[in-house]
Amino acid sequence: MPYTIEQVKALVREFPDFPSKGILFRDIFPIFRHPEAVECLVDHFVERIKELGQRVDVVVGLDARGFLFGPLIAIKLGVAFAPVRKRGKLPGEVVSVTYMKEYGPDVFEMQADALAAGQNVVIIDDLLATGGSCKAAEDLVAQLKGKVLLSAFVISLVGLEGDKKLKAPVYALIECY
Ligand code: AMP
Repeated sequence: MPYTIEQVKALVREFPDFPSKGILFRDIFPIFRHPEAVECLVDHFVERIKELGQRVDVVVGLDARGFLFGPLIAIKLGVAFAPVRKRGKLPGEVVSVTYMKEYGPDVFEMQADALAAGQNVVIIDDLLATGGSCKAAEDLVAQLKGKVLLSAFVISLVGLEGDKKLKAPVYALIECY
């Protein structure tokens, strides 16, 4: 049975105090229990990206939930997918950036040949909170001389104003206040 985007949104669940006290965790995994819901979500993102009216060369997915639907979006667009991973997971030459997490610094990496200078990129992740992860991904794309056209999320916690850290525009399916 085909899903509407409103039905997809309704599949996202909230878990108070996970993984630690005071965090309201937004869980997108129930979407993946329904193939038609995934298809609806992916098509929705693909439409938003096509509306940019600009050539997209690479979809960049963030570790780890950006890997769930980033490649599906890339396939539908007929473009490459490149992962941004935590330090030490990617072989070969990498570019790195250090960014601040809740409890201290962390490092994100991308393979140096994952995109070519001048290529246009869309960044994909499940959720935008403080924007630290996405800003780090923007920095990696900039190191490789790519251009971020858009960062797209299932959920944005708009009260945290993560979008203000970012250079490129943000799209979120669900905006939480
Ligand atoms: P940030 O770098 O602060 O924008 O955090 C975004 C990253 O942390 C994303 O990769 C999310 O998967 C994860 N994250 C942060 N807060 C939550 C939350 N409340 N529920 C689920 N994931 C979260």
